[in-house]
Amino acid sequence: MKIGILSRRPSLYSTAALRTAGEARGHDMHVIDYLRCYMNIASHSPSVMYGGKSLEGFDAIIPRIGASRTFYGTAVVRQFEVMGVYPVNESQAITRSRDKLRCLQLLSRKGIGLPVTGFAHSTKDIEGLVNIAGGAPLVIKLLEGTQGIGVVLAETRKAAESVIEAFRGLDANILVQEFIAEAGGNDIRCFVVNDKVVASMIRKAAPGEFRSNLHRGGTAEKIRITPEERSTAVRSAKAMGLRVAGVDLLRSNHGPVVMEVNSSPGLEGIETASGVDVAAKIIEFIELEAKPGKTRDTVK
Ligand code: ADP
Ligand code: GLU
Repeated sequence: MKIGILSRRPSLYSTAALRTAGEARGHDMHVIDYLRCYMNIASHSPSVMYGGKSLEGFDAIIPRIGASRTFYGTAVVRQFEVMGVYPVNESQAITRSRDKLRCLQLLSRKGIGLPVTGFAHSTKDIEGLVNIAGGAPLVIKLLEGTQGIGVVLAETRKAAESVIEAFRGLDANILVQEFIAEAGGNDIRCFVVNDKVVASMIRKAAPGEFRSNLHRGGTAEKIRITPEERSTAVRSAKAMGLRVAGVDLLRSNHGPVVMEVNSSPGLEGIETASGVDVAAKIIEFIELEAKPGKTRDTVK
């Protein structure tokens, strides 16, 4: 098969792993810098142009779209969809996954376990907002944050009020969330491919830190997840319309709660921690599913 990896950098671990896994299984792999693509939209034969050449004959594409490039990246994915090329994740599902609030709203609609969460922009009723999260301690997040930046644990109501005031001054969208203390600074990443968890890892926060992000000094290791965690991860990916997803869970007293669902989950951490060749799982999935014209968004 001819498979395109939409990625800005061939040297990234995930990009290289996908290319290697595809080549090992006999496929013709191409890394395409989607920012350098341009498109012919208004024509009877839609195309994606790259370095003066039309990208043709692809059976499938693997979008690896950076969070800050969602707009243009998903436009390129959509153009491939118009051309009938099978995308591992569809443009609409990627866009959807980039909006944390929309994610939580969709997951809650499917009855998936979530931390009790409130959302606000510039409410004057800070007390009411804090009450939604059940009072202190609580977690306050900037909606636009990544890698744990803009995630604050407020131990007291007073601290929470100050943080919310400060965030309000930034003209930001904020989430307030029940603090899942019993998670003990650990979170679980489940890597879902085609409605199955193919690998999982537990990330542990550095001492004195409640955020388990590897960028915040957390460490990762392999873990066996429970059947309930497995089904929560699979249902979450499905609710988002994602065929490949990284689902982050916390172990709470009321069962697994979903933190977020990532549409371009990294491969390095999960492959290293779990010992699973996740890239090969994605290629196997493409071999099984990619058919011309089979690109339909499934979330209604
Ligand atoms: P980001 O998207 O920036 O990584 P997250 O919302 O995933 O932000 O939060 C970062 C980390 O902080 C999580 O992986 C988790 O370890 C911890 N965390 C976030 N929210 C909570 C919460 N409500 N209770 C306990 N820990 C939390
Ligand atoms: N089916 C609608 C859509 O895809 C709603 C799902 C969503 O909010 O993402 O636009």
